[in-house]
Amino acid sequence: MKAVWHSSSRAILLLGLFLFIPAAFVLLGAPIAGTVGVFGFHLGPAARVAVVFAAWLLSISCLLLLQRIHLHSNTELPYLLASYILLTFLIFFGMERLVLLGFRSAGLWPSAHQAGMLHPWIQIASSFLVMGAAIVMLPRIRSIQEGGAAARKEHDRFLAAAESSLDDFYIFDGVPDESGAIVDFRFSYINPNALRRLGATHESLAGKILTEVRPFMITSGLIEKYSEVVRTGKPFVAEVYLDDERIRATWLHVQVVKLGNGIAITSRDITEHRRMLDRIQHMAHHDQLTGLPNRVLLEDRLKQAMLRADREQHRVAIVLIDIDNFKNINDTLGHAQGDAVLTAFAARLRTRLRESDTVARIGGDEFVIVMPGIHRFADVNTCAQHILDSLVDPLAVDGKEVHITVSAGVSIYPDTSQDVEQLLRVADSAMYAVKNKGRNGILTFEENNTDARLTDTPESR
Ligand code: GH3
Ligand code: MG
Repeated sequence: MKAVWHSSSRAILLLGLFLFIPAAFVLLGAPIAGTVGVFGFHLGPAARVAVVFAAWLLSISCLLLLQRIHLHSNTELPYLLASYILLTFLIFFGMERLVLLGFRSAGLWPSAHQAGMLHPWIQIASSFLVMGAAIVMLPRIRSIQEGGAAARKEHDRFLAAAESSLDDFYIFDGVPDESGAIVDFRFSYINPNALRRLGATHESLAGKILTEVRPFMITSGLIEKYSEVVRTGKPFVAEVYLDDERIRATWLHVQVVKLGNGIAITSRDITEHRRMLDRIQHMAHHDQLTGLPNRVLLEDRLKQAMLRADREQHRVAIVLIDIDNFKNINDTLGHAQGDAVLTAFAARLRTRLRESDTVARIGGDEFVIVMPGIHRFADVNTCAQHILDSLVDPLAVDGKEVHITVSAGVSIYPDTSQDVEQLLRVADSAMYAVKNKGRNGILTFEENNTDARLTDTPESR
């Protein structure tokens, strides 16, 4: 689609001048009486009336066209005045000639002699008027032409930029409903990049209704956002995920601005960028080896769980788990196998948790389980017991069976600790208490008793 800005002014101007000059010439030069014809042709009275009348009509049309240029180009007063003077002049002369010719052909006044006497003066006066009008108009016409050339240049530049842009670029005309509100859009311009993305040709889209080509615009609510841009004049900028039959699973950065009664949309594929951000985000919040949340995400989840606990009047328990003598595993099986044990242990923990629980790896062989929605201490004990039970079966690592034991400590918000740091500290102390007592155990709490009590875990298994 090549023509975006309608620059019809220049064509109208040229047409106006083209028609105006011979018409004015006929009007000024047309004989009033006698046998002298138009441009040397001998015409009868009726034909002369017709020619002059046609020339008059033509001249008026030309001036009306020139008036249109004025409207198009917002030119100022002198041009408007000049064209009005000229119009008045032409109407006057045209009428005068017609009247004279009419009288003459009817054999009435004025006589050929009288009309002949009048004729040179009329011509002199009209020549001056035309000259005056031309002096006023010509600079205006030149500036209009220059304006037209500048607009064309601008248009060419716009096209070059739009056509070679790496972004997708669209111009849509607004489609109003009965009340006049813009509720849909019609494809007006689509740059090559956008055509490639939509897998369409210009011919298949030009003039089509957006929501008919892409119903996804309705289901995603985007059409309302676009309509709002026209209504309010405020640009819409967003990262939008598209997945329809035209554009598959793609993140686009979309910028929509109002353009007259329609909109101009610039969009850019940011899928790769989003993926990279997601990866970075994931890496920043997860442990690389096990894929579990890391300390940063753990703290965030804990804070959220504590806020909910305040709102819903329940408790949050955490269990801090450290594998016993993990260095020995590294020493005997090697570091790589040690990694595999950590991964298998993480996977085992994950399978034993409730949907709402979170398990995070916060250090080498240290893991934390967050248990929100705790109402009774007994629930914590049950969960802790569950975790220990999960380790009765050996871990399968590279076809080998590896037995591990763990030491764990529990702390509870708001009973033992008031903030994240304290929660982790209390659980850590409890876990170290178990280590000091000989490992392989868990320090839990009893109902109505916030004093830590070391349970005899080996027996409890
Ligand atoms: P304890 O019973 O007191 O916990 O003794 P431990 O041997 O488990 O020692 P500790 O928990 O203090 O240290 C954990 C060890 O885990 C230290 C380090 O050698 C090892 N480790 C830390 N990170 C990794 C890891 O990513 N992979 C492997 N294979 N080993 C790790
Ligand atoms: Mg350890």
